[in-house]
Amino acid sequence: MAYKQISRKEALSLEGYKHACHVMLYGDTDAKLFGRIPLKHVVLMQMRFDGLLGFPGGLVNPSKESLECGLSRELSEELGMALAVSPENYFSSCLSHSAPKVVAHFFTKKMTEAELWEVEKAAVSAAPDHGHEVMGMVRVPLFSMKSDSGLPSFLSHSFISNSRSQLLSALQILGLVSQEDVEAAVRKADSIRKTRPQ
Ligand code: AMP
Ligand code: MN
Repeated sequence: MAYKQISRKEALSLEGYKHACHVMLYGDTDAKLFGRIPLKHVVLMQMRFDGLLGFPGGLVNPSKESLECGLSRELSEELGMALAVSPENYFSSCLSHSAPKVVAHFFTKKMTEAELWEVEKAAVSAAPDHGHEVMGMVRVPLFSMKSDSGLPSFLSHSFISNSRSQLLSALQILGLVSQEDVEAAVRKADSIRKTRPQ
């Protein structure tokens, strides 16, 4: 599936388009899987009502509110807490050929591990959308182990719209996973998808 990257300014000048804003919350961690594999970073996504993985956020009306304000409002519904998003958190905008007339704006926000944990707890205990539009927050496994465990298996699941490509570019550009490791994980994910029993 192809997605056309455009500038924020160009995106906001489009006529007749809906604007979707989503955010990747992430941070660093010293935690180790099985006490030996460094996890290095925490990256949050969510399991959506439609069974697809995606990022928290939703539709925003730029004629009534800024992208950041609208995203923040969506986050209070999905995460159960007020989370400020600023223009510094802006990452990219793109047009999706799979969802015509929707422009997807993407933000990334770095937080401490403790703050990310607060987000996860609030998402279950306080978010109005929990169990309805959002089935739960998930941490993305960033490591790759033998037998394709970790990032390759995660990437073989189904994602909403262009959220998978948003994840892949953010992981590389923010330096959370090397370009080489992302490319290898994508190749393995593709082969898992092809060989999975139906
Ligand atoms: P939502 O209200 O979160 O479902 O998002 C509103 C619109 O944005 C829908 O048309 C989705 O197809 C699309 N969408 C959902 N999540 C993402 C995402 N992470 N990136 C881009 N578009 C998305
Ligand atoms: Mn949403």
